[in-house]
Amino acid sequence: MAIRVGVLGFGGLGKAAARVLAGKREMIWVAAVDRGGYAYHPEGLVAEAALTAATQGTVGHLGGYVGPDSLERAIAQVAPHVDGFFLALPNLPNDFIAQTTRQFIAAGWSGVLVDAIKRTSAVTELLTLGDRLQGARITYLTGCGATPGLLTAAAALAAQSFAEVHRVDIRFGVGIANWQAYQATIREDIAHMPGYDVETARALTDAEIEALLDRTDGRLTLANMEHADDVLLERLGICDRRQVTVGGVVDTRHPQKPVSTTLQVTGRTFEGAIATHTLTLGDETSMAANVCGPAFGYLKAGWEMHQRGWHGIFTSADTMPRFVR
Ligand code: NAD
Repeated sequence: MAIRVGVLGFGGLGKAAARVLAGKREMIWVAAVDRGGYAYHPEGLVAEAALTAATQGTVGHLGGYVGPDSLERAIAQVAPHVDGFFLALPNLPNDFIAQTTRQFIAAGWSGVLVDAIKRTSAVTELLTLGDRLQGARITYLTGCGATPGLLTAAAALAAQSFAEVHRVDIRFGVGIANWQAYQATIREDIAHMPGYDVETARALTDAEIEALLDRTDGRLTLANMEHADDVLLERLGICDRRQVTVGGVVDTRHPQKPVSTTLQVTGRTFEGAIATHTLTLGDETSMAANVCGPAFGYLKAGWEMHQRGWHGIFTSADTMPRFVR
């Protein structure tokens, strides 16, 4: 039977997730939630119709609910009919996903949750919820986007050639035509720039973001980001978190990537050779493809684990995603 999937957050990633799911037969997309409402249909939602409804203010116009407290209501009313959710919500404030997870626990829901959270501090907080998630019979997979996510898993795999890992370096390139299509992603990236933090970036008005982007020709250049790839790899004993660096360039005015996305893992083999493995993602693959693909691959893995009674918290680095047909 197809896995019944819900998407929490219907912004840039949530909309892309709907389009990804449209091509899958092992998953059926039954629910979507945004700030203004939720849509639910037990036989499956149609991506094109959902995108049209969202242009009218909320995906809820598709049929479900339109009004305040959509997330709370969806957890109470829709979640019992859903096997697993992809949390494509902004993590603003920095504990928003953790708060949402506590709501699922309090509601007595059991199933699979997958996030694409980025910050080390946010993942660290989620990792403390392991016992409560286990008690609630929830299988939670954290850090399952691109970075952390696909690239963290690739780093964990690449590390196997080495007796000692010296350095993991992730450089990402993102190209989007318009920052407004990925507001949370852009705000959360600005929060890594010198002079900003999560709260100051959250408080920026749209006009202030436009002005900031005007000064940089639409590009954000990011270095030494607080990205959870570090804690996820450290947790497995692969390397120390200080040996992991993440940075990148985001172009908010062109869909082409400004630079290629690369992962480099440097280490020493058992014979004493020092070497670097490099993985380069295809430039034509969008951020949305590299986040939503892994998120659903991990959701499928999480569903298999859930059915075996494996509950609690797991990560992109300690689990191999399954390919969703
Ligand atoms: P967005 O701003 O485009 O969309 C957010 C959506 O969430 C909107 O539909 C909004 O209505 C909804 N929402 C916000 N608050 C809500 C609430 N209280 N109740 C119900 N719905 C609510 O976001 P985005 O740019 O698609 O990013 C989503 C998340 O994905 C961000 O946290 C971002 O950092 C993360 N992300 C991760 C990676 C990765 O590689 N790990 C890459 C890109 C983005």
